[in-house]
Amino acid sequence: MDAVKSYKCPCCSDALIFNADTQMLHCQSCGNEFPFDTLSELDAGNEGASKPSKYNWQRYEERNFDADLSDFSAFSCSSCGAEITGDSSLGAAICPYCGSNAIAKKQFEGSLCPDYIIPFKVDKKAAMKAFEDNFKTAPFLPDEFRDKKRIEQMQGVYVPFWMFDCSCNAQITYDAQRTTLWSDTNYDYTKTDYFRLIRKGSVDFENIPADGSSKADDAHMESIGPYDYSEAMEFRPEYLSGYFADRYDVSSERCVDRANERVKNSTIEVFGDTTDRYSLVIPQSTCVEFSDGKIRYALLPVWMLNIKYNGQNYHFSVNGQTGKVVGEYPVDEGKKKRYFAKLLAIGYAISAVVAVLLLL
Ligand SMILES: [Zn+2]
Ligand SMILES: [Zn+2]
Repeated sequence: MDAVKSYKCPCCSDALIFNADTQMLHCQSCGNEFPFDTLSELDAGNEGASKPSKYNWQRYEERNFDADLSDFSAFSCSSCGAEITGDSSLGAAICPYCGSNAIAKKQFEGSLCPDYIIPFKVDKKAAMKAFEDNFKTAPFLPDEFRDKKRIEQMQGVYVPFWMFDCSCNAQITYDAQRTTLWSDTNYDYTKTDYFRLIRKGSVDFENIPADGSSKADDAHMESIGPYDYSEAMEFRPEYLSGYFADRYDVSSERCVDRANERVKNSTIEVFGDTTDRYSLVIPQSTCVEFSDGKIRYALLPVWMLNIKYNGQNYHFSVNGQTGKVVGEYPVDEGKKKRYFAKLLAIGYAISAVVAVLLLL
């Protein structure tokens, strides 16, 4: 025997009773009436969206590359602990992550083969220009940040990224309202309609990046994108000539949470775009389920620059494909003071002139 199901009013949560006249369920508190079908649809929608979210990712199987790598060396930085690969041309190098020159060559012990690589497209000259242009009009920029010699210490690094692809099936319910206002000669009217919105659908994601290097600044690596993945190439060691290459030390499993979060948030954003006909929308429950979750390992090009100022290290990253610059510069307090002192002096001079004019 089917269990007797009691329904609650979707508007005010009070119990609904069957109205024999209208053959609908009636709410004695708010007076609304609901057909059975509407309530079962609503129920099904709520059930779907209140299920726990499910994230399934395939395991990543790593593989080493077997090409001739005799030209490569391993470098390790005793200051920040970075372990990176570079070709022999990078003899007396400084660490791209922390700017220290306490970086020593070690025996190269093979490296992981990425699934793909985006080769550097912005060369050093162009990266330096991008950096200079970015801070050209920066107010009170310390002189150290315009010093060509320092900017020249910029180094190209292939940063390891985990790339996540998946399909995301989601169901989100919202409580929504639409308000209509009108007036006649006697009164102003406000009508508020209440809705329960149920949105179902699937969104495909490709190349959601999460950097796999503990040395790379996560915030920089998140804002340095987007990269154009149509230019991704199958890996060849030749792409590394003249550049450093880091290998991951943060496993894909540890990056999965970041990827889940991004997929979930982007899906919520896409679904949110379908609710803009309402004046107020409050999400009630969200359930996402991933399918075809694939993880790939990629090397992406980044120019890195470290500038020391007032005992602090300022790190900058330039996208090696697009030239986008990320990083914050400090303000030269001396320059700022002198600027405001000058402004103040001009202010005094102007008021002195006005005072003199008034006296005339
Ligand atoms: Zn009610
Ligand atoms: Zn270092």
